[in-house]
Amino acid sequence: MNPVSKRIANLSPSATMAMNQATKDLKAKGVDVINLSVGEPDFNTPDHIKAAGMKAIEENVSFYPPAPGFPELRKAIANKFKRENNLDYKPEEIVVSVGAKNSLANVLLCLIDPDDEVIIPTPYWVTYAELVKLAEGTNVFIRGAIGNDFKVTAKQIEEAITPKTKALLLCSPSNPSGSFYSKEELAEIAAVLERNPRVFVVTDEIYEHINFVGKHESIGQFESIRDRVVIINGVSKAYAMTGWRIGYSASPEWLAKACIKLQGQLITGATTNAQIAAIEALNGDQSCVREMLVAFKRRKKLIIDLLKDIPGLELSVPEGAFYVFPKIDSYFGKSYKGRTIHSSNDFCMYLLEEAHIGTVPGEAFGEPTCFRISFATSDDKIIEAMKRLKDALARLN
Ligand code: PMP
Ligand code: GLU
Repeated sequence: MNPVSKRIANLSPSATMAMNQATKDLKAKGVDVINLSVGEPDFNTPDHIKAAGMKAIEENVSFYPPAPGFPELRKAIANKFKRENNLDYKPEEIVVSVGAKNSLANVLLCLIDPDDEVIIPTPYWVTYAELVKLAEGTNVFIRGAIGNDFKVTAKQIEEAITPKTKALLLCSPSNPSGSFYSKEELAEIAAVLERNPRVFVVTDEIYEHINFVGKHESIGQFESIRDRVVIINGVSKAYAMTGWRIGYSASPEWLAKACIKLQGQLITGATTNAQIAAIEALNGDQSCVREMLVAFKRRKKLIIDLLKDIPGLELSVPEGAFYVFPKIDSYFGKSYKGRTIHSSNDFCMYLLEEAHIGTVPGEAFGEPTCFRISFATSDDKIIEAMKRLKDALARLN
């Protein structure tokens, strides 16, 4: 008998992390594998941010941090909301955590009681559904169809609301689809929430700065629902700081206090020198963010042009983030050397083993007819990977 708790036994491992590991394991065996699985910028953290982190170490900023985060960082985040989003948040409404993943976990554990329902549009980022399970809530999935760029409509959300609904989880720009909700679409969703005053919206805006169509839009801008909006963000993606592990939430103060109580017991607070680096990221020169966006835009065009040349794929062109989520079910039932592709899982394993490219199966995102490619890698690797993909798919019949 395995004595692990039911809570953890029921939890699925992170598929993105698992595919990343499988790809790295293959590489360690000497195989020339291209990793398009995990979503992390391939850039180094900009020098001025690294320097701030190093200075913090040298100056012995090495004692326990305050549970909510350093006051200077909470202030820098509040200033960021004003400067970039025109949103008014007090530092007391902001909680700094160990990555946006930790911020999301805090918020869901502080909001969700057993049997509360959380509406999650599919395709969704792998972690959402598992965190809701951890909080003993019930996931209610609504499907964003590829024909609507994987977005759900306000009408779908309204129809999914029941007396048990506690929250709606939004992600824009989206991982894995790259879809982006316009101000008009968000206004319609806000109107639904206005009519349903018990329902909170948790909006994950970690890809805010990787936007190919224009200005970021947050559902936090609608005053009528302001006291039920929770924004999740962080420095991982915008500043190429995935390993520093700094994320944050902005929420009503009562919820921020609950998150602070929880993380005071769970993590104490986020790593001190990483917090100092995050202050520099938010307050310092922002040209690094614009430079990385130029590269992501170029890579998006490159990968979309190459994917359009591969038969049997259906595409929705991403408007943000650094993922493409092609529909691949036209390949289900096809075989190569006695190996038949029945699912997106089979498809991605075939690509890993036969084409030596690491991707993530759609099952992990609640959309088993698709698979995810991260294009946060060099132009050369994108070109080579798409060639391998095309050749491997041509071998299937
Ligand atoms: N939300 C989304 C949609 C993500 O893709 C990620 C990436 N891991 C996160 C949150 C978590 O970010 P962090 O690295 O700050 O924990
Ligand atoms: N968000 C990234 C991804 O989806 C990182 C992996 C993770 O945090 O699970 O690939």
